[in-house]
Amino acid sequence: MDLLLSLPIVSYFGGPMLTSWSGSMNLLFFYMTWTTLVLSHSPLKIELVGTLAVRIVFWLVPSLFFLLFDTLVPSLAAPIKLYGSISLPQRNAASLLRQVLLAIFNLALSTAVQAGISIGAGTFLHHPLFKTSTALPLPWQIAKHILMLYTAREVLTYHIHRYILHSGGRIAKLHGAYAHARKSGAPYALMVYTDHPLPLLLNRTLPVYLPAMAIQPHLLTYFLFTILTTLEEMLSMSGYSIVPGIIMGGIARRTAAHYAGRGRGNFGAWGLLDWASGTSVGKDVVEDIQDEAEKHQVKERSQSAVSDAGNMVQDGIDGLKKARKGRKKNSDS
Ligand SMILES: [Zn+2]
Repeated sequence: MDLLLSLPIVSYFGGPMLTSWSGSMNLLFFYMTWTTLVLSHSPLKIELVGTLAVRIVFWLVPSLFFLLFDTLVPSLAAPIKLYGSISLPQRNAASLLRQVLLAIFNLALSTAVQAGISIGAGTFLHHPLFKTSTALPLPWQIAKHILMLYTAREVLTYHIHRYILHSGGRIAKLHGAYAHARKSGAPYALMVYTDHPLPLLLNRTLPVYLPAMAIQPHLLTYFLFTILTTLEEMLSMSGYSIVPGIIMGGIARRTAAHYAGRGRGNFGAWGLLDWASGTSVGKDVVEDIQDEAEKHQVKERSQSAVSDAGNMVQDGIDGLKKARKGRKKNSDS
């Protein structure tokens, strides 16, 4: 438990947002905690406990909260669900409990598979899979690795989801019976982990873990990537129409369309490959990006309108001042 509490990743990545002084204090504090952690625990233990903690905090806890909200106050939940009340979870305690247990089992299994791969890779490579040094990764290196991880994940998720999970084969039948058990409506966040274990490992665990194995980033970069993807999966599967941001809202809308349309399209996580391959259902990701850009342009235009108005007022004041000076000179002479 002390290991869970001493993962100060949030303070580290939240650092730049704070003022420089408290930011560098935070960074120093983070560095000291990280160094203590690295020196007192094995890299494998930090990796597995850290990943599990991220999944619990950013998926399991919010999912259970949303499940309670959706089932206890459906009158409040239905208006903010995509497709309305048909997207609410079934109010059947026994079947919900079975789903929660399946989700927890799948989370444990996914962690165990990750442990197996990490131990195997560590033995093969003669060093831990992720760099767990006391030196922190550089910001540009974090950005580069995260971009590579996201790209590889999108390619893997799209192809596995489209050509294996919706191919009509045996694994596709399992994905259909578990993940697509509900024949209509948007999903809810718990459903990130309620697929059959086999399609789940193919669709959720491997697309994140295989690229990480190939790139072997710093463990902190891997943690940041896990936080971002876990948050994204939780929000995209939440089925809420009020998911913030045009881009994230679009991802949630497309995921809901995948489930409501029984897997007719929208196979990728972000939707770029769906757009490129013509498998988008509803508004695609490029239209979302255009909307986002337009929103910023409107903001800029209104900001420049405000500064134009400010300039006009300033010009008017300057004009008045000049006129007054002129009059003063005239009366002095
Ligand atoms: Zn599917």
